[in-house]
Amino acid sequence: MSSFHADIAILGGGMVGLALAYQLLERHPELSIVIIDKELELGCHSSGRNSGVLHAGLYYPPGTLKAQVCVQGARRLRAWCEAERLPVLACGKVIAPQALELDGQLELLLHRGQANGAEVQLIDRAEFHRLVPDGRTASDRALWSPGTCVVKPKLVLQRLEQRLRERGVAFQCGTHTARVQPESRALTLQSSSGEERVLRYGYLFNSAGLQADRMAQAFGLAEQCTLLPFKGVYWLLDPRAPFHFTTNLYPVPDLNLPFLGVHVTPSPDGSITLGPTAIPAWGRENYRGLEGVEPLMAVEFLGDLVSQWWRNAGGFRRYAREQALHGLKPLFVKAAQALVPGLRSEHLIPSEKVGIRAQLYDRQSGTLVQDFRLEHGEASTHVLNAISPAFTASFALADLILDQSPLASH
Ligand SMILES: Cc1cc2nc3c(=O)[nH]c(=O)nc-3n(C[C@H](O)[C@H](O)[C@H](O)COP(=O)(O)OP(=O)(O)OC[C@H]3O[C@@H](n4cnc5c(N)ncnc54)[C@H](O)[C@@H]3O)c2cc1C
Repeated sequence: MSSFHADIAILGGGMVGLALAYQLLERHPELSIVIIDKELELGCHSSGRNSGVLHAGLYYPPGTLKAQVCVQGARRLRAWCEAERLPVLACGKVIAPQALELDGQLELLLHRGQANGAEVQLIDRAEFHRLVPDGRTASDRALWSPGTCVVKPKLVLQRLEQRLRERGVAFQCGTHTARVQPESRALTLQSSSGEERVLRYGYLFNSAGLQADRMAQAFGLAEQCTLLPFKGVYWLLDPRAPFHFTTNLYPVPDLNLPFLGVHVTPSPDGSITLGPTAIPAWGRENYRGLEGVEPLMAVEFLGDLVSQWWRNAGGFRRYAREQALHGLKPLFVKAAQALVPGLRSEHLIPSEKVGIRAQLYDRQSGTLVQDFRLEHGEASTHVLNAISPAFTASFALADLILDQSPLASH
């Protein structure tokens, strides 16, 4: 069997893997880097299927990894997109309480945002209606984040891939990892035609998104964790609908859960999307119908959901009541009406876009993991739970991963 060598192997060519390669080259331009992706083209999973919102950093408790990288990451990615002349819609974002009892959460988000270094302010009802004439706030207030913007995720990925290729990064797309041998720093790769080659690496980063936990487990790490896939379905606002949105409109999220709630997002191409849902998926890549269903995983997932519900971990029953059934259009419309009271079912048209969150579940603590999690092996670093805002934060997250990985000693 033929073999080849790279100083650095990156498993997974999503935004996290590409940003890692980019920041590695900024630090060590002499490194040889290969990015391996099982799909024939990049962007088939979360990084090509998300809302494209560059989050300002309001949600995350200070001190968490998310808080450390989101604000800087958003600024850097936005500046990079602008320098590359990629579309950036500088539209800001309003967060409005969808029920009166959620009004108090605005202060919490305000303080978190300020502590994280984000630009954010409380606004009154008049200002809210000036910004979102068709929206609703259940109290007299809302939060305004002027710095939030929206990009086209696939265009970002494509340009980043192009820049990395120009700088000598090799891409092995459509390539499966058949075997891993961490002790000899080798991976056996299998191409789509079945041909096998051995890759010998100096250091490996696992940024395999929805499969990252399985890859980490092949390296003997993260044994107590598994991924629970939550599907995000979007709807498009019919352009003939009598609404005008020039900014993002988000609800106050349930801060016990890692989901931000159904929101309204304008895109740089002029379209307006509503979503995403956060409904259980029955396979990590179960984007539509029965496609990608994993029966064993689905049974285990159901067991985990029942256990979460039974223990009401993190107020899980509220999730089950309020979000788990948003796959049903009438319930989705009801959730969206809390923010856009005039919305009717006929204003929504199905969107092609559907994404699945790579949500990590810690079986030991019985909780959904909230923060990013890094695990280190002998000559490898594994990026787990790269959920939102990993797209936003990617450049800063890559720097944090490089700073924390034992790569320097290899
Ligand atoms: C519905 C939804 C909306 C979101 N909205 C936002 C948002 O507005 N803003 C934001 O910042 N974040 C958002 N996110 C989160 C964001 O999309 C992710 O955090 C980010 O894209 C994760 O990037 P990644 O590189 O880790 O994963 P991915 O993009 O999933 O990339 C992983 C790659 O690994 C490859 N791979 C998998 N297994 C293997 C293997 N064994 N060998 C080789 N390759 C493998 C896959 O093919 C894939 O290309 C959203 C996510 C979802 C699902």
